[in-house]
Amino acid sequence: MSEVKSRIPIAKPWIGEAEAEAASRAIMSGWVTQGPEVAAFEQEFAAYVGGNYACAVSNCTTALHLALLAVGVKPGDEVITVSHSYIATANSIRYCGATPVFVDIEPQTYNINPMLIEEVISKNTRAILIVHQIGMPCDLKAILDIAYRHNLPVIEDAACAIGSEILWDGNWEKIGKPHGDIACFSFHPRKIITTGDGGMLTTNNPAYDKQFRLWRQHGMSIPDTVRHGAKQVMFESYPMLGYNYRMTDIQAAVGREQLKRLPEITERRRYLAQQYQEKLADILRLKLPTEPNWAKSNWQSFCVRLTEKCNQLQVMQTMLDAGVATRRGIMCAHREQAYQTEAWSCGFKAKACRCEIGKCDRLTESEQAQDQTILLPLFHQMTVSEQDYVVKVLQMATQI
Ligand SMILES: *Cc1c(COP(=O)(O)O)cnc(C)c1O
Repeated sequence: MSEVKSRIPIAKPWIGEAEAEAASRAIMSGWVTQGPEVAAFEQEFAAYVGGNYACAVSNCTTALHLALLAVGVKPGDEVITVSHSYIATANSIRYCGATPVFVDIEPQTYNINPMLIEEVISKNTRAILIVHQIGMPCDLKAILDIAYRHNLPVIEDAACAIGSEILWDGNWEKIGKPHGDIACFSFHPRKIITTGDGGMLTTNNPAYDKQFRLWRQHGMSIPDTVRHGAKQVMFESYPMLGYNYRMTDIQAAVGREQLKRLPEITERRRYLAQQYQEKLADILRLKLPTEPNWAKSNWQSFCVRLTEKCNQLQVMQTMLDAGVATRRGIMCAHREQAYQTEAWSCGFKAKACRCEIGKCDRLTESEQAQDQTILLPLFHQMTVSEQDYVVKVLQMATQI
């Protein structure tokens, strides 16, 4: 197996001259922190998802923190979410002093199982934080229905879901419109488009948007840009406790260029995912991902499930030895050491569940997904021969 000389990475941002020039434009302008480029990026992002407001922040984790604060999550509250996600999802709830209540996933979509939400709603439940995992939209209709009935706000962790779509009243709409109350996005290089690091909050609620803008800049009453341009001396005030969660203008300038590439990126990823579906269909020891007919994933990751006959670690090592990088399936926060001491619950802990450290009878689908799935390389610049090579190596690795 020597036709591919350098390792095929799991992901690779599609970024180049246009982004370099944009960063240079911001630097040469003399204004590098949050300013006009951030404002323009926000407007363009809001237009892209079809929402009213977009507020840029330093990353998706800080976006999640502000979203939870905005809907009123306080110490002692509970927030219903999944354990089966990047750990930032659960951590953002802990930053508010609240307890994540983990609900199991559906094995086909790796997303929260809406049927399991209602039974864990308690008098302490303050919000539902759902994740569009690896870009696959959640069953938002079912989730919002439950949320409305219980008068609970819904926050969408859309870190990986830029460009993903959902069928809504007969039309395809972008994730982040938002369909819940607030959606949070990430521009980490492992996601669909990147600003190095970066995040975005979208909402149709002007009060939330106003609040995010104060919080991201230390709770300061007057933004830097306004003071800078003012003809009269202005004194700012700090009416509330805020944070420094700003995005810089250098990042936003890069983001604006990335946004232009997004339609092409999404189209290419969907094509490559379709190719994987066809080329991997004959491997018996694999279960391929399924896309509900009301969802269009951006295929942030292509996740395959190994059947019992394959050992996850062994398959991944065999592939790495052959020059193909993979990652194991999405982690489960409740199995990490941090959550041996951080508060969490499966909603039944006190009553019926025999939760042990790192193991929970009610989160078996989450645990199995982590143990049985692997993520395959998928990136915009991936060539047909690279993809064919990945398929060939995976075929070999699963036959051992
Ligand atoms: C990557 C990711 C985050 C964190 O995003 P950052 O921008 O790195 O803070 C949060 N949630 C999910 C589901 C993610 O995949």
